[in-house]
Amino acid sequence: MYDALTSRYTFSCPARGESRVSLSSFRELDRLPGAAHPAVFRVRFACACGEEHVGLVAHDELDWAPLGLQEGLFLNLMTARLEAVGDELADLAARRIQAGNWPWSFFCYPEERPRPVFPSSFFLLAPGDRALGLAVRCPCCARVSVNLVTREHVDLPFHNDAQIGVVEHVFGDDALVTLEAFRDELYSARFDARRLTLE
Ligand SMILES: [Zn+2]
Ligand SMILES: [Zn+2]
Repeated sequence: MYDALTSRYTFSCPARGESRVSLSSFRELDRLPGAAHPAVFRVRFACACGEEHVGLVAHDELDWAPLGLQEGLFLNLMTARLEAVGDELADLAARRIQAGNWPWSFFCYPEERPRPVFPSSFFLLAPGDRALGLAVRCPCCARVSVNLVTREHVDLPFHNDAQIGVVEHVFGDDALVTLEAFRDELYSARFDARRLTLE
């Protein structure tokens, strides 16, 4: 379902049969209640046919497949450390993470600091003229931040924008429940530049 060579997910499309989309074509991600091993996410994505469709992605496929990593690693987001639970870490991606080079990051506005993150913490994406609006639920403080990033920042693991836009607003839990509400917020919001250097 995820092709690491092209960084694309394959979903079904009622018009074309099959649609191959990058992460930045996702519009909404919802973790489905119930299924836990692995958790399953319902994804609404923008298809090349011009419509939006819904597909399902397993948690490991969302977060680990883009890195070429298999099971056996445990990412501790509270300490921002990748911990091995199985074999030795031989994979290049694992070594890069251990060296402090994170596949994805975002700026947590309530905490006023950059944080490492995985795609399963993204929940709304809205493309604009030049940048992509990204709503993230922080894996550490569980609060919501809105960043303005490049598509590459989302699509390419280990590509982190040096500087991004941050909406200077602390969102309530019910503030960004729909993509429409998110787009409205993006149009009216003030962005401030922040550096994304993780210590
Ligand atoms: Zn389609
Ligand atoms: Zn946070």
